[in-house]
Amino acid sequence: MNMTDNCADRLREEVTDSRAFWQSDECRHWCRAPHKDADHVDDRGHDSDYVGTITLRHEKLPMEDLINAPFIPPVAFVQVTRDEGEAQARVLVIKCDEATLNLAQQEAEELITALQAAVELARKASLT
Ligand SMILES: [Zn+2]
Repeated sequence: MNMTDNCADRLREEVTDSRAFWQSDECRHWCRAPHKDADHVDDRGHDSDYVGTITLRHEKLPMEDLINAPFIPPVAFVQVTRDEGEAQARVLVIKCDEATLNLAQQEAEELITALQAAVELARKASLT
């Protein structure tokens, strides 16, 4: 291989490899986030689509928001995320574009158990 072939191969690699410089591997199969070289260091990770959407009908809004606009219930989104180099993916519950809950897998399982118990109690409490 001569020098021209080597440069051509490198150029071909740069054109076909769409990974951002900070990505050590190909994007995860479940990731739907676009990645760029200019991504902020806190945004260098992989995010799924929203796997759940919950309308928060009983959420209270600040009074100034109620004065300026009709009440539209906020929505919480559930998403899987994994930062570059992180050993395990986590579960995010996002409300109003802020991560309200940022849970390790074990913590998410504990939340599921607690929510199932609370839903069961709420069902029983609704009967009496
Ligand atoms: Zn990704």
